[in-house]
Amino acid sequence: QAKKSGKNTYQVYAVTESISAYKQYTLEQDLRKAISNDEFEVYYHPQVNGLNGLIESAEALIRWNHKEWGLVSPAEFIPFAEENHLMNEIGDWVIRNVIKQLAIWKDKGYILRPISINISPTRFLKPGLVTFVKKLLETHKISAHYLEFEITESTILKNEPKIIKTLDEIRELGITIAIDDFGTGYATLQYLLNISADTLKIDRMFIQNITNQNKNDAAIVTSILYLAKALNMKVIAEGVEEVEQLQLLIQKECFNIQGYLFSKPVPNATFEKLINKGFFPIPKSEKTKKPEV
Ligand code: C2E
Ligand code: MG
Ligand code: MG
Ligand code: MG
Repeated sequence: QAKKSGKNTYQVYAVTESISAYKQYTLEQDLRKAISNDEFEVYYHPQVNGLNGLIESAEALIRWNHKEWGLVSPAEFIPFAEENHLMNEIGDWVIRNVIKQLAIWKDKGYILRPISINISPTRFLKPGLVTFVKKLLETHKISAHYLEFEITESTILKNEPKIIKTLDEIRELGITIAIDDFGTGYATLQYLLNISADTLKIDRMFIQNITNQNKNDAAIVTSILYLAKALNMKVIAEGVEEVEQLQLLIQKECFNIQGYLFSKPVPNATFEKLINKGFFPIPKSEKTKKPEV
């Protein structure tokens, strides 16, 4: 009897194992085919001047439209793609797509907005990034000044000489560097002196609680702003959702805003309409509105 249940237990275990292995396998296969199946799309998240609402630039963010599952969040599939060595190919697809899109907008006569692209840590370690981008820019006759590359603080903290060297080459080309998720690394700020970056993107985590009197997040943001000023760096506040957050940031002289308060990331056709219009109205605080009678 005991032997039998033992065997059953084993069988059940074996079945669940193979299901999850099957799922992993399917996800990997689907991700491998996603480029040729044309399932990826680039969305654009406007970066707005919080004083006058002008759209100054945008961040390119990948979207995966899976044939059965619908939209899959990059937070879900990017770590999986990294693990399975698929991220460099996907990342290069994003770079190519954005540069082609800039060329289309240029042909249509739009005033181009600088676009920032997230670059995976592994891409900095693989040779040829700079040549790849340089060639694309030349082919499509796009100036390097229309691109910014985002590298996460945690990638920089790896302190890889190869990464630091590649960052220098990218900047030499004329592409600016932004440090993404800034403040989440709990690290010494020493590294900022050793790498050449142009922009700090304050992580949403700090912006979320910036108006909370019981937390120290406003103080952290203030010190990031001081630091950036001293180092002559631009700052972007990411994840701004509320008018009160915007107002506090403006008060602290942080004018570059990226967040749902103005817009969610949008497909290229929608972004085209937004840049045609050129600006967002500045939302008014609920508190300053007259109470409805
Ligand atoms: P990230 O680079 O820090 O991008 C910002 C993320 O915050 C985006 O999520 C954006 O939609 C979200 N966000 C911005 N403002 C707000 C806000 O006000 N409220 C809320 N709730 N969210 C806000 P998304 O598009 O889901 O991307 C998640 C992460 O996936 C990105 O974080 C980035 O690390 C990675 N990622 C996305 N696209 C790419 C890509 O093409 N290449 C690489 N390597 N990574 C990418
Ligand atoms: Mg980013
Ligand atoms: Mg970020
Ligand atoms: Mg992030």
